[in-house]
Amino acid sequence: MIDYYQVLGVSRDANQSEIKKAYRKLALNYHPDKNADNPDAEKKFKEVSEAYEVLSDEQKRHTYDQYGADALKGAGMGRGNRPFSSTEEALRTFMGAFGGSSSSGDSVFDSFFGGSFGGGPKEYARQGVSKKAQLSVSFEEAAKGIEKEIAVMNYAACDKCKGNGARSSSDIKTCLTCHGTGHLQQARGFFSISNTCPHCHGSGKTITTPCSACHGVGKIKKKERVKIPIPAGIDDGMRLRMTGYGDVGDHGGPPGDLYVYIKVKPHEVFIREGDDLIINLPISITEAALGCKRDLPRLLSKKPIRLTIPPGTQTGKVLHVKGEGLKNVHGHGTGDLLIHIHVETPVNLSSKQKALLEDFKATESRENSPQKKSFLDKLKIFF
Ligand SMILES: [Zn+2]
Ligand SMILES: [Zn+2]
Repeated sequence: MIDYYQVLGVSRDANQSEIKKAYRKLALNYHPDKNADNPDAEKKFKEVSEAYEVLSDEQKRHTYDQYGADALKGAGMGRGNRPFSSTEEALRTFMGAFGGSSSSGDSVFDSFFGGSFGGGPKEYARQGVSKKAQLSVSFEEAAKGIEKEIAVMNYAACDKCKGNGARSSSDIKTCLTCHGTGHLQQARGFFSISNTCPHCHGSGKTITTPCSACHGVGKIKKKERVKIPIPAGIDDGMRLRMTGYGDVGDHGGPPGDLYVYIKVKPHEVFIREGDDLIINLPISITEAALGCKRDLPRLLSKKPIRLTIPPGTQTGKVLHVKGEGLKNVHGHGTGDLLIHIHVETPVNLSSKQKALLEDFKATESRENSPQKKSFLDKLKIFF
């Protein structure tokens, strides 16, 4: 007959703190993680865990004292008949003995596992889900910047239970399966695998009576209106991140974010290239040959830009107007306005115009068309 007091090395009248202290010391010694090449250690580990499981529970201890270990078998201990048929259950007890509020033993625990262990419910804190939204703005709105409001459906913390999901704080209990740690340790050969507790899903807590408003979820769907500050110079396809405007986090985790994808509607006159604005400007051959002045619109002002097109301007010529482009979205200055010249060949000529052009043609010299002259000069070597 196994003697639990002997197993833990404590007297029959040992108090709970002595029992816990003795168990922690032995369990750390025989822990499978520290004894990969010693099969006897695992057996010992299960044994001390079993003893602790009984003696740390006043009711079980009382039963044991009166009737012995056999009386506990099948009496709600563990899943099988024997309390510790599996290492997993021993590890659960082990976690329970170190979890929760505590005494000096925790520092031993940290050094034993290098501090990378036993996060439990803290690890369970999860960031809320991030959301995506599309927002369409006009070309002018993108140029000058604007604030727009959009509606998003988010999970927010339940007002009634403040997000804990319970009817009242007394309805929140420590999970008995994982003893509040949120996970269960399972030994697999050399490795020890940590699984999320299936009972509390990692929270370490269970709710006896759920909140009536959210049915224990702790959050409810809400329509939220979010103001989106769109900076001047934003471009089509850019993404704005609204930190914290996604779903509420779980178990103390931060909320998700809202990602706003910007769609900029095209403009009839202006084309964008980086921070520069482009106008494709068609001019007639006489305007191109004689030069002219043209008024061009400004994107954000009624006051036009007076543009001088010099005599002899060719198709493809680009005229720059400095600082008349778009503000850089990151605040790095302002782009330019680029005017791309297209000389348009006249069509639908009247007979009078034809006659005038025939007269003009008769006066044309090679000096009027230097590009044509240079090209013909190059062709001479062929003929
Ligand atoms: Zn649990
Ligand atoms: Zn609630």
